[in-house]
Amino acid sequence: MQSLDAFAGEKLAALDAKSLLRRLRPTRRHEGAMVERDGKRLISFSCNDYLGLSQHPAVRAAAAEAALNYGAGAAASRLVTGDHPLLSDLEKRLARLKGTEAACVFGSGYLTNTGVIPTLVGPGDAIFVDALAHACIWAGAQLSGAKIVKFVHNDVDDLERLLGAERPLARRALVATDGVFSMDGDIAPLDVLSDLCASYDAWLLSDDAHGVGVLAEGRGSGALFPDADIPLQMGTLSKALGSYGGYLCGSQAVIDLLKTRARTLVYATGLPPASAAAALASLDIIEAEPALTVQPVAKARLFTRRLGLPDAVSPIVPVVLGSADDALAASAALEAQGFLVVAIRPPTVPEGTARLRIAFSAAHADTDVIRLADAIADLRRVAA
Ligand SMILES: *Cc1c(COP(=O)(O)O)cnc(C)c1O
Repeated sequence: MQSLDAFAGEKLAALDAKSLLRRLRPTRRHEGAMVERDGKRLISFSCNDYLGLSQHPAVRAAAAEAALNYGAGAAASRLVTGDHPLLSDLEKRLARLKGTEAACVFGSGYLTNTGVIPTLVGPGDAIFVDALAHACIWAGAQLSGAKIVKFVHNDVDDLERLLGAERPLARRALVATDGVFSMDGDIAPLDVLSDLCASYDAWLLSDDAHGVGVLAEGRGSGALFPDADIPLQMGTLSKALGSYGGYLCGSQAVIDLLKTRARTLVYATGLPPASAAAALASLDIIEAEPALTVQPVAKARLFTRRLGLPDAVSPIVPVVLGSADDALAASAALEAQGFLVVAIRPPTVPEGTARLRIAFSAAHADTDVIRLADAIADLRRVAA
């Protein structure tokens, strides 16, 4: 269709003019934090493989064995024939790790939030969302049909004001936030959010994609706030757990409801057994090796101290550069020095805050962390 290709072509040209066109770069991942692009080896500071577990021999072997024994795919929705027993083993382990009654795994983290949120709220309800929450929380909120109320990032006073104004108008209310913010690395004040939710009868959903496995001995950002009541604890198997898939931990009643109503579970194929087996093997390692779980934040702190930045509180450190062009140029300069640090541009981050997003891993050598910090210090000196 001529009009279709013309539409796509015009869109692409407009994005390119603003340095916002994105291109896939085929990348092979190797041992440690090494990646290979265009035949060149780079140390990656952009993978979310915080503990290096996607490359761990026991995790790879568990995935391979499950694929050999049970097949490569699940072949149907979990509600049909796709509910391999490994999935319920994994759910028990996740619930134990998070201290909840039950858990439900989904095909991915994205599918978790887009399935969970519309199951719990809909038209006539309200969902209060942190301005910097992950795109899949926003997608779930939009799908739900609930009134979306955006609060200023991590601003509990703003949230309280909005709850005061909007909560009485809504039948049910959900407050949704990242636990660790994916592009900024800061942590939500889950204790205060939990108190506010109790006062206003709202349900708190925390997305801990970047906390599980790396904070509070692997239990995640919620465990940093032992008194907080977080009834909906979402996360992914795809980052520190080195596998693929997503989960929600919660009460038995909530989990039972999701398993019968969440559209991304009912109408999507179950997680492959290999992904579940890999995640289980990773949980074994995380529980047996608490010293491993502290490594990513320790590396991030080594980096922030070297650069005189505020101490990192998670494995993610942003270096905000402003324009998309500046972020792309910095990323290219680091690539020339053997580092892969992908530039993050709008709409993933707000306009004018394009950045390098640096993700630290237990697989990084301290010497490489220091070399990267010094390379970035040089870039900042040249730019100043
Ligand atoms: C990566 C991410 C997700 C999506 O998880 P996937 O398993 O990759 O689909 C959800 N929320 C946050 C905060 C994330 O960073």
